[in-house]
Amino acid sequence: MRRRNDALALLLVDARMPQMSGTEFLVQARKLYPDARKVLLTAYADTDVAIAGINQVQLDHYLLKPWDPPAERLYPVLEDLLGDWSATYRAPFDGIRVAGSLWSPPSHEVKEFLSRSQTPYQWVDVDQDAQGRALAEAASPGLRHLPVVFFPDGTTLVEPSARSLAEKIGQKTTPARPFYDLLIVGGGPTGLAAAVYGGSEGLRTILIERETTGGQAGTSGAIENYLGFPSGLTGADLARRATAQALRFGAEVVTAREVRSIRAAGPYRTVTLDDGSELSCYALLLASGMQVRRLDVPGVEALTGAGVFYGAALTEASACRGKDVVIVGGANSAGQAALSFARHARRVTILLRGASLSEGMSQYLVERVSDTASIQVLTHAVVSAACGSDRLEGLDVTVGSEGAVHRIPAAAMFIFIGATPRSDLAAGVVERDPGGFILTGPDLRVDGRLPRSWPLARDPFLLETSLPGVFAAGDVRHGSSKRVAAAVGEGSAAVGMVHKYLETV
Ligand SMILES: Cc1cc2nc3c(=O)[nH]c(=O)nc-3n(C[C@H](O)[C@H](O)[C@H](O)COP(=O)(O)OP(=O)(O)OC[C@H]3O[C@@H](n4cnc5c(N)ncnc54)[C@H](O)[C@@H]3O)c2cc1C
Repeated sequence: MRRRNDALALLLVDARMPQMSGTEFLVQARKLYPDARKVLLTAYADTDVAIAGINQVQLDHYLLKPWDPPAERLYPVLEDLLGDWSATYRAPFDGIRVAGSLWSPPSHEVKEFLSRSQTPYQWVDVDQDAQGRALAEAASPGLRHLPVVFFPDGTTLVEPSARSLAEKIGQKTTPARPFYDLLIVGGGPTGLAAAVYGGSEGLRTILIERETTGGQAGTSGAIENYLGFPSGLTGADLARRATAQALRFGAEVVTAREVRSIRAAGPYRTVTLDDGSELSCYALLLASGMQVRRLDVPGVEALTGAGVFYGAALTEASACRGKDVVIVGGANSAGQAALSFARHARRVTILLRGASLSEGMSQYLVERVSDTASIQVLTHAVVSAACGSDRLEGLDVTVGSEGAVHRIPAAAMFIFIGATPRSDLAAGVVERDPGGFILTGPDLRVDGRLPRSWPLARDPFLLETSLPGVFAAGDVRHGSSKRVAAAVGEGSAAVGMVHKYLETV
């Protein structure tokens, strides 16, 4: 019952039971339901037991058997106790509960996955909540594996993978067919736009996403420059709307599955998924975007998830209440995060390699950051170490050209130092630039010539890679604008080119 988070008003327990006494039972039950009213049923000869029970388990009442007539001897007692209980009762949270520690990286990952999937959950901090801790310990002895996720149906998952979590919250993780007209790798704005257009234009379309839909945009707390939303919208909201739209048009959206490699076999393009299974299509769109660049200084790797986070990690915002937060980086994403965390944190410090925020941030964000009293900006500042034993406590920062190292207190550090393309799945299969971005269309020409691997007499379409029928769009593409609207535009435009390609096969 506790695992399901069911309410329990009253325990009516016989003093003599086959395997344990009523008092022993109440001792245990009380740990789980301290507020439930406790009534012991005793025989006439057992009144001593009942009196001992009053002291041992704070018994609310004992009833002598038989309680005839019940209308006089039983119901009034129970009614009184139930009335008493319901006067102070607060309904328990009727949804998913995540019991974990703020300093456990898998707990952070589960929270991120659920919130980016827009699945409401209640956070139970096992370091603060003794009852939550006891409950988690029952499922994960010694709390060696965290978090423990409790579902309303009474089931639990201990340190779940993204896939098991996705399945449990009703997301699709297995493709329905072996073959599609269009297979899209990546569920960021590019992939979602392509899924909407592919689905709406009658292509059998599938989108495979390794986490949950939304991509980098999905981690943004406020996208303010996307056309049609004058007061901005959150990335999670954009992802939710776009996913619903793609599904409505009949596209299949599979989450928590990664495409590991791609290959061509005649007119077909085949991808291998993370479990080794394969899926084929006529046309493939690589919309795999970018991943954050790692900060390679001592202490960072060990403390990642335990105070050190990549990206906005908005699920940690409330944990930063009253604390010192550091943001590393000076692009728009860093500015947005600084403004979000400033609502909770005592102080937010932006560490900037360069001389001023305007070098990398849109003017509207620079102004907002400057107008926020709790945000300070340190220029020419470079993190040289993250300090703390099991959680982040401070940072060593080199400020200015003289190289002096300052230790600044920090309960959390959010890192925004750029990103690299996620194109390894296509390495050796399509042409990439030296940075790993995928070359498409006219960019494939070097000194006016197409790569030798290009097999056709026609030129590649605008968003087509060096392998016919494989397209690339959005942030992963060489020369893309790295903006939500541009990604959506490219994802939509790619479907037009897929149609042209399909006419040729
Ligand atoms: C914090 C933040 C704030 C931002 N704010 C703004 C803003 O306000 N305005 C703006 O215009 N732009 C903003 N951007 C930039 C914008 O989000 C990106 O340009 C946009 O998300 C790019 O979309 P995409 O679909 O090409 O790639 P991504 O968003 O990177 O999505 C790619 C997706 O592919 C998935 N994937 C990768 N490899 C695989 C694989 N092998 N198998 C399956 N799936 C895979 C990834 O998990 C990811 O979900 C922001 C970026 C960040 C990080």
